Amino acid sequence: MPSQKIYLLFQASVLETFDMYRQNSRAATEAGGILLGHVRGEHVEVIQATQPQAGDVRHRMRYERNDPGHQTEADLMWKQSDGEIRYLGEWHTHPEDWPSPSSVDMDGWRYRALARQDGRATLSVIVGRVGLYVSLVDGQGETTLFQECQSS
Ligand SMILES: [Zn+2]
Repeated sequence: MPSQKIYLLFQASVLETFDMYRQNSRAATEAGGILLGHVRGEHVEVIQATQPQAGDVRHRMRYERNDPGHQTEADLMWKQSDGEIRYLGEWHTHPEDWPSPSSVDMDGWRYRALARQDGRATLSVIVGRVGLYVSLVDGQGETTLFQECQSS
């Protein structure tokens, strides 16, 4: 398969949200949310990341996005933007410098990607204490890893 370049852009506000929840202290628990933005051809632009909410499960090494508020926020953005800003995927933090996905993460992403009605790829981001892990899982469950990310 020929390799295709996909360009990914994070809005500054999204990176600020990630920074707020980096697990830099021993007590910090995992955080996460939904990624919202545009896809234009091969360009993915992440415009907003929802923040952890009261109903989410947050432990040192586990995050579950259980609060319906994330979806409510996504629906609202979608409506307000006339369908321009939509669900792109998921983010969560890890208590490691350069994060790598657990088997639970990979199974979850694959499950979400295969379950999507629109067949679009799902963006998955792990925010480590130093770096980011970014991948795209397509409708067949195939994973593309992003090598470099550029911030706006
Ligand atoms: Zn994880």
